[in-house]
Amino acid sequence: MGILIDLHVHTKRYSSCSTVEPERLIKQAVRAGLCGVVITEHYRQWEARELDELAERSGEPGFLLLSGFEYASAQGDVLIYGLTASQAAEFEPGWPPGTAVAKARDFGAECIAAHPTRTGMGFDEQIVSIPLEAIEVSSVNLREHEQKLAMGIALNAKVPPVAASDAHELQDVGRYVTEFEDPIRSMSDLQEALRRGRFRLLDGVFAGMKTH
Ligand SMILES: [Zn+2]
Ligand SMILES: [Zn+2]
Repeated sequence: MGILIDLHVHTKRYSSCSTVEPERLIKQAVRAGLCGVVITEHYRQWEARELDELAERSGEPGFLLLSGFEYASAQGDVLIYGLTASQAAEFEPGWPPGTAVAKARDFGAECIAAHPTRTGMGFDEQIVSIPLEAIEVSSVNLREHEQKLAMGIALNAKVPPVAASDAHELQDVGRYVTEFEDPIRSMSDLQEALRRGRFRLLDGVFAGMKTH
């Protein structure tokens, strides 16, 4: 078994749509068998100092707590990994997704399309022309047929799929996860793994879909 990480989680600290208490996040993630989570709030990113404080208080030394950013583009949401909190603050909601991804890349960050086929919040065919490290194909916010469509987009775009919970409630943390092949100890390790495609959907998470 590789390193299990939930790449997409919201807490109530900065995502008003989430009920997850940050103080309970890590224990729940450990219970779900995860090695790490990335907090990806809407519109703003946790600062490193805030992550350190929460991780220290968790009583789970060695658990990997990272912060990314879920950017609301004109078309769909983009998960960005590798920005500083102040770089994330430069992103104004509503840019075309390609513009946001280009800016993220200028900062050296990696991008994943979040729930690309979610009703009313998805990307159009142009998604294949956006340089993404991965496409999220399953989460609690994608229904079964939306997951199949998202997998189709990933295959068509030749972009690897990831699974992530997009948890807004505590019990959803870790419900969908991605497995990494190499040890991940920092955001830069995660970025490198994303760049190199050293990850995969967990067996069973996508059961029944691989044959299509
Ligand atoms: Zn939300
Ligand atoms: Zn989200």
